[in-house]
Amino acid sequence: MSNQLTTHDIDEALIAAGLRRTPQRIAVLDYLLRHPDHATAEELWPALNKRHAKASRATVYNTLHSLVEAGLVREFKLDGNASRYDAFLHPHHHFVCDICGVVEDLEWFEVPALAQLKTSRSRAGSRRIRSYEVVVRGECVKCR
Ligand SMILES: [Zn+2]
Ligand SMILES: [Zn+2]
Repeated sequence: MSNQLTTHDIDEALIAAGLRRTPQRIAVLDYLLRHPDHATAEELWPALNKRHAKASRATVYNTLHSLVEAGLVREFKLDGNASRYDAFLHPHHHFVCDICGVVEDLEWFEVPALAQLKTSRSRAGSRRIRSYEVVVRGECVKCR
């Protein structure tokens, strides 16, 4: 799903989030959208460097940070490992493999009980719920 997004979508997302459209932000979002395997910053950096010879490691971290703050990228910290990053322009769920740790996207579907949290206060208390996502765990195709 995510790799159908275009440069136009990336521009729109940055504008909507109130972020300046820097080449680094565009490159990071573009990379994450084209590689929905939830890369770590260490995996992302050499890949970006191949295409945009200017990005330093610090730049990649700073860029990721600004995108996470703006809600355009999700940061996962699973089982104490390095953070993984995911362009989150469209809602989706996640599958995590218990054996190899791979994080895969699952197509979006509503979970009525969770969707209710957005309108009902009974379980969310005084919190305001904006969105939800589900993480399911098991064994991936390769590990089964
Ligand atoms: Zn696996
Ligand atoms: Zn994802």
